[in-house]
Amino acid sequence: MRGHAAGVSVVIGLTGGIGSGKSTVARLFTELGAVVIDADAIVHELQGPGMPMLAELAGVFGDEILDSDGALDRKALGEIVFRDAEKLARLNAIVHPQVGAEFGRRLQDALAADEALIVLDIPLLFEGRRKGGRGASSLATQATVVVWAPAETQVERTIARDGCTREEALQRMRAQMPLDEKRDLADHVIDNSGSLEDTERQVRALFAELTEAAA
Ligand code: ATP
Repeated sequence: MRGHAAGVSVVIGLTGGIGSGKSTVARLFTELGAVVIDADAIVHELQGPGMPMLAELAGVFGDEILDSDGALDRKALGEIVFRDAEKLARLNAIVHPQVGAEFGRRLQDALAADEALIVLDIPLLFEGRRKGGRGASSLATQATVVVWAPAETQVERTIARDGCTREEALQRMRAQMPLDEKRDLADHVIDNSGSLEDTERQVRALFAELTEAAA
């Protein structure tokens, strides 16, 4: 990125709730020239076919977590850990440190490349920090940003995007930390209750504020 002082990268943590618009805001930040490091994408990459983490998971949870192509069957794994806190803890103990380490490597690369704004896209940013986790949420950020929308909007957009039922959307939303609570914890809030243009304006303003403060 041109136009910012060398060696002064700003690192922010971006989060939201189901259907609140976090991916949309991450895309807008990318379009403005930020580097986005995406926790979910790293999890999917590290659990891809042939990756050591996948073999480790199959060793612990059995081959029933693999589909016929040898790829991870997320639904099968989810069913195994869903009602078993001990198994969930074992899963997290495998996944979180490795994802955190890869996340850290990518962050170091972005810092070494002197990027102006580095956005850590972490769905469970506050939940992980609250639990003192060892994953991506434990990385230091200068500021946190929450993408907020009213609960009813979250539900409507999730149904429209995923084609799920209202009950399923509500169930997934209730399993998360309430978005209003995340909003109260955040340093910056993007209000995504309006149009995409309105959100884009807010992201532009925040990008300018964060990068100018560092320049
Ligand atoms: P999740 O955490 O569930 O993956 P998310 O927070 O990343 O969700 P998005 O996927 O960005 O949310 O947005 C949810 C859906 O709502 C998408 O289909 C997106 O295109 C749409 N959407 C996002 N923002 C707006 C907006 N301001 N107006 C209308 N639709 C929107």
